Amino acid sequence: MGKLTMDKLVTLCKGRGIIFAGSEIYGGMGNTWDYGPVGVEIKNNIKRAWWKRFVQENDNSFGVDAAILMNSRVWDASGHTASFSDPKMDCKKCKSRMRADTLISAHAKGKVNPDTMSNEEMQAYIEQHKLACPKCGACEWTPIRQFNLMFETARGVTDENQNKIYLRPETAQGEFVNFLSVQRSTRAKVPFGIAQVGKAFRNEVTPGNFIFRTIEFEQMEHQLFCKEEDSKEFYEKYKEKAMQFLLDIGFDKEHLRFKDHDKLAHYASAACDIQFLYPMGWEELNGIHNRGSYDLSRHQEYSGKSMLYTDPFNGEKYIPSVVEYSIGADRLMLAVLCEAFDEEELEGGEIRSVLRLAPCLAAYKAAVLPLQKNLSDSARPIFEKLRKSFPVIYDDAGSIGKRYRRQDEIGTPFCITIDFDTLDDNSVTVRERDSMEQVRLKVDELESYIGNAIKF
Ligand code: ATP
Repeated sequence: MGKLTMDKLVTLCKGRGIIFAGSEIYGGMGNTWDYGPVGVEIKNNIKRAWWKRFVQENDNSFGVDAAILMNSRVWDASGHTASFSDPKMDCKKCKSRMRADTLISAHAKGKVNPDTMSNEEMQAYIEQHKLACPKCGACEWTPIRQFNLMFETARGVTDENQNKIYLRPETAQGEFVNFLSVQRSTRAKVPFGIAQVGKAFRNEVTPGNFIFRTIEFEQMEHQLFCKEEDSKEFYEKYKEKAMQFLLDIGFDKEHLRFKDHDKLAHYASAACDIQFLYPMGWEELNGIHNRGSYDLSRHQEYSGKSMLYTDPFNGEKYIPSVVEYSIGADRLMLAVLCEAFDEEELEGGEIRSVLRLAPCLAAYKAAVLPLQKNLSDSARPIFEKLRKSFPVIYDDAGSIGKRYRRQDEIGTPFCITIDFDTLDDNSVTVRERDSMEQVRLKVDELESYIGNAIKF
């Protein structure tokens, strides 16, 4: 069927209540998006599945929910105030601001890697290849300058007494600053993990790939604290765990690949991404980093508080190493939608749009559909019973065929039809989304039938 384009996905998401443009009635606000009734459920299910896998079922892993606004010294220690910046330049003609590295990547298509280039080298490349402004086509750029990505705000009771603070650009520091509190309160022994799901903010200039890169987004992060000599093994383990999670929520392994970083941070001994084949090409979905003891050491240095862990068996004191696994919930949501979207030609030529979501991720697990409105006395109690166990939706408007299509389009795995036979045999027809096959089940069997199918 036709290729999925980003424009098509944006239109679908808007029409089906998955994602809307942010502040739309005011003309929008660049790179912000709002999740609608269906989208919020899918995204919550993604976050729940991740938490289940990396906290609930993960040995020795603990969750936190740290404050978004942190003491500014945190960002000095992490290096964000000094160097969390992108190389940007302005088009002299239309005044659009662009990332130099993104412009080069789009042009070079893998032949050069801007991450390994200095600003001067990027400037020379842009001039030599006459890279034009994507907005107006002019080739007149200001010199490249580094722009910090952190959003600043101010805290203080009066204007004269303001302290600059930042909206956190990543959730990771919330795990690092709480390392000892978590360790002591849980009496965890190294190796152990701290996970967090929460909002992060970056003042990004983006080429508009929908929710791929936004200025406000959610991250799901797991920091594994271990002995330095074990970190390589944990790094490999988390690469596999991260990949397996994606396969288990429905990704085709042909659409995923590991990509080692060409340039490592000075403290890191290994770093890679898992990339997904988005409509615009292979792009980062998540990162896995072997960060050594850099993060905790820096917090020890800047806070003056000891970050030493004492081994309860031999009394050895050391600052643990960190293996970080970080994935954007919104970027994963985009990948999930791209992976699930399908258009199928039915007999007779009709096109069926269907979101083939893993049942655990679907917004509604089933739709309850009385064949006719006057069957509502039988259908409503079924709906009300099922919704105590999982999200279900009730729809009695329009032909049954149209109602099936509506549910296919939002990825509801089961449609339960109540017909006149239900009145006699207390049975219903259950139609499965992907195969469209139908089975007849007793009303009492529904809960376990659906419950088994949606397990993750
Ligand atoms: P990129 O190179 O795409 O900017 P990054 O390497 O800066 O990403 P990290 O800082 O490692 O990303 O963040 C971890 C994860 O958070 C990324 O793999 C991605 O899934 C997500 N993420 C980062 N920045 C954004 C953003 N602006 N919008 C949405 N998700 C993001």
